[in-house]
Amino acid sequence: MATECYDTIIIGGGPVGMALALTLQDSGLSTLILEARGVPEENEDPRPLALSHGSRLILEHLNAWHELSHTTPITTIHISNQGSLGRTVLLADDAGVPALGYVVNYHNLFRAMHSLLQKSKANYLAGAKVTKFTTDTKQGQVEFEHAGVKKQITAKLLVLADGGHLTGQIKDINYNIQDYQQWAIVANIKTQIRQSGIAYERFTPDGPVAMLPSGDDFALVWTVDPSAAKEVLALNETDFLSRLHAHFGDRLGKFITAGKRSGFPLALKYATPVTSQRIALVGNAAQTLHPVAGQGFNLGLRDAWELAHEILASETEIGTPTMLANYRQQRQTDSGAGRIFTDSLIKLFSNDNLLLRNMNGLGLSALDCLPPLKRFVARRMIFGARGS
Ligand SMILES: Cc1cc2nc3c(=O)[nH]c(=O)nc-3n(C[C@H](O)[C@H](O)[C@H](O)COP(=O)(O)OP(=O)(O)OC[C@H]3O[C@@H](n4cnc5c(N)ncnc54)[C@H](O)[C@@H]3O)c2cc1C
Repeated sequence: MATECYDTIIIGGGPVGMALALTLQDSGLSTLILEARGVPEENEDPRPLALSHGSRLILEHLNAWHELSHTTPITTIHISNQGSLGRTVLLADDAGVPALGYVVNYHNLFRAMHSLLQKSKANYLAGAKVTKFTTDTKQGQVEFEHAGVKKQITAKLLVLADGGHLTGQIKDINYNIQDYQQWAIVANIKTQIRQSGIAYERFTPDGPVAMLPSGDDFALVWTVDPSAAKEVLALNETDFLSRLHAHFGDRLGKFITAGKRSGFPLALKYATPVTSQRIALVGNAAQTLHPVAGQGFNLGLRDAWELAHEILASETEIGTPTMLANYRQQRQTDSGAGRIFTDSLIKLFSNDNLLLRNMNGLGLSALDCLPPLKRFVARRMIFGARGS
């Protein structure tokens, strides 16, 4: 087995790992990114991602934004609560930005970054599955398999961007896990009333249901009870659309067609701490959130961005305890705020207590009457805890 040495090895080439590799590509540092999957198939993952304006700025900087085949701006977010009259409407103007966010498809984002990396100077190995890693005070060592060949490589810093699959190998990192007992069903939906830039978020006792503008249509994220998930996924199109219509209401007229459906079990999962000896966690490996507020990838992208800046600011200190402590400190507030914000939304709104539901309705109406508070909420959804 040949052994190669890098400054940084990124384990996992999902959108967050790829963003880190793209940020480091022109630095002169040696970086290798290992991704278990091969070239992505057409329409592999129909999951919509609502990207914040802040994420757009980062993706533009990485030249990834213009590689995206479809981006649909969200100019308004309409939030309502099933069974109560309260609602609030957030406008892009409230936050002082051209759009509150942009809807892209996970698969399109993956493909766009994948093709950029292949054209770039970055060392990128697709179809390379990491099986094991260890660290000592000086370096990390990684074992992986690529095209049937086992390899061993080392780096000053290992970055886990694998969605959290391998974190169990690190003894001093623990995951805090809370199963929400909910599944998200995603699909593209054509409705009688075409999308006009409005994202609808409706809270129900079973969990939130979101209809996000996507192309001419909508991208659905529908939270259901785990016991109902299999059944909803298996319904024929007509039954699926009528069940969705009954749940969502009449705001968009008739529900006409549904594209490929996928289901995802939902849990809050976050690592403490997000670093270990010669190791840093980013993206879903560091924190996996409920999709209700569309924060997961946005937060992960900021992890990648800030870790890259720590690496670049301390070229001679890559992977040292000081560099890793700086990264931890940089991410603490943003990650904690994203987590608490998302988790609170689920706890507050996904329940069948009538009193609480009416109070939530009142709260939404009150928010609607308080422009400074709306601006505060909107900017945090866009830029994270710092709001700028
Ligand atoms: C239904 C749903 C809707 C969502 N909506 C939004 C939204 O609107 N906005 C938002 O910001 N976020 C959203 N998210 C969250 C978002 O999808 C994740 O936060 C984001 O995908 C995390 O990216 P990642 O690169 O960290 O992890 P992943 O996307 O999980 O990628 C991890 C990568 O690591 C690779 N890997 C795993 N193990 C190995 C190994 N052993 N060796 C090599 N490679 C490996 C995998 O193949 C994969 O490519 C949503 C999530 C869901 C489920």
